Amino acid sequence: MDHLTKDDLAQIDRSYLQSLEKETVIDVACKLRDFSIALVERLEQNSSNSSKPPSSDNPYDKGNKGKSDSKDDDDAKSSSTEDKENRTTEKGSPAESSQSDDSNRSAGRQPGSQGFWRSETPVPDSTIPHYPSVCMICGKALDVPEAIPPYMGYYVYELEKTASGIRISCTLHHYYAAVCDCGHETKAQPGEGYISHVEGRKKDLKLTEYTMVGPMLATFIAALSVRFRMSRVKIKEFLSYWLSTELSVGTVDKCIREAGVACYPVVEGLVQELQEEKIVNLDETPWYEKGCLKWLWVAISRRVAVFYIGTRKKEELLKLITSAFIGWLVTDGYLAYRSYEKRQRCLAHLIRKAIALSGAVDEKAQKMGDWFLREFRGLIQAMAEDGEGGKRKCSPILARLKRACNLGSEEKHSKLRALAREILNDWDAVVAFVKNSELPPTNNDAERALRHAVISRLISFGTRTTEGSMAYAALLSVIETCRLRNQDPWQYIAQTIALGRKGVAPSPIAA
Ligand SMILES: [Zn+2]
Repeated sequence: MDHLTKDDLAQIDRSYLQSLEKETVIDVACKLRDFSIALVERLEQNSSNSSKPPSSDNPYDKGNKGKSDSKDDDDAKSSSTEDKENRTTEKGSPAESSQSDDSNRSAGRQPGSQGFWRSETPVPDSTIPHYPSVCMICGKALDVPEAIPPYMGYYVYELEKTASGIRISCTLHHYYAAVCDCGHETKAQPGEGYISHVEGRKKDLKLTEYTMVGPMLATFIAALSVRFRMSRVKIKEFLSYWLSTELSVGTVDKCIREAGVACYPVVEGLVQELQEEKIVNLDETPWYEKGCLKWLWVAISRRVAVFYIGTRKKEELLKLITSAFIGWLVTDGYLAYRSYEKRQRCLAHLIRKAIALSGAVDEKAQKMGDWFLREFRGLIQAMAEDGEGGKRKCSPILARLKRACNLGSEEKHSKLRALAREILNDWDAVVAFVKNSELPPTNNDAERALRHAVISRLISFGTRTTEGSMAYAALLSVIETCRLRNQDPWQYIAQTIALGRKGVAPSPIAA
């Protein structure tokens, strides 16, 4: 279809229409009507009525019109979208309630379904005996007579790195009991640690050595899930085909959550460290927890990254950036950040808006968009230059930018006026990087840190429980922080799980 171009539309103004004969005006009106209908139909396209992917749907309005702009920087819009968010959270997502009865069943194995058990007895590579060393009552050293059989035992599968690759080993752990002279019987026990409780779940998740998956294999499974984005079912298939290790989907799931839960104390330490950083980039992206809209936040500095899944409310920000923080924040224009004084507003967002403006139908808006774009790029370029030369170039650019905003804020074109006022309202934060050359002009670091998780969300549709969200965010925090410090995240997480299963606090990530 030959559609009207921007050029055509720019010519159809009031004076042009007034100059036409009545019949021609009607022709023009009909043409415009057809064009509008085509546009409206395209606007209403979403994943349910076209070939567009579900990711293009509006996160605030699942299953409704495909409004693609998910994050608004504008003052007016932010408050209304926040209301909407709260409503969505309360009554559950519309998509969920409209689904068939099938969605009411709980995740995982259903009551009465066929069980999963080992068909062959494992053949252990080695046996490790565990003896009680001292009497629990009187503290006297204990001798275990050799002839006595262990009172319990279990197999542990563990992943070992060899010179040429990896292999799965199987170890049999034997636990012994001994009777002291005082008459008390002391039993050697597998270690136990933190217990994660979830309301309504039949069995709590407990960190313990009494389990069939070793710390390194559990970390490997968590890596396949979080880093390599494999589903639980695919991981089970992968372990079976390539490593001849048969684990149930439930065990795979438990390993992933255990790895995350073991990292909780590490993340607490990272949040503390974050408060001492000079510059922290902050960003957030939509996330789904059991189909409800949540937000995945990230706070990232040069050597610390902390992820958090929660609502988009201002209070959630305090879980990442506490009142102890006195450094600089680099953020987008989201309102929750506005009250923080030492802040750099991400220029990339404003530049994108200026680009949109420069492609507008209105000629004035086009020119002003180009003007904003030129001054923003000039500022970034001048600050990237070394020495005082670049800084000196900035003051005339700042003066011109301010003039453009002042002119633009009085214009009739709504998007032009909104952008000009947005820059003026947040002026100090927009140009903070000119005064403080350590500040980055954009929030790229935080946006890059979120990108991996955004792709995971598109594949997995988010997490299903609060524990799942917390565990996922904890793993992301540890993996990203290790990356920033050039440490091996998997070695560190395996070590953290091993300590957690003994109830011992993890050591901090090396700097
Ligand atoms: Zn004793």
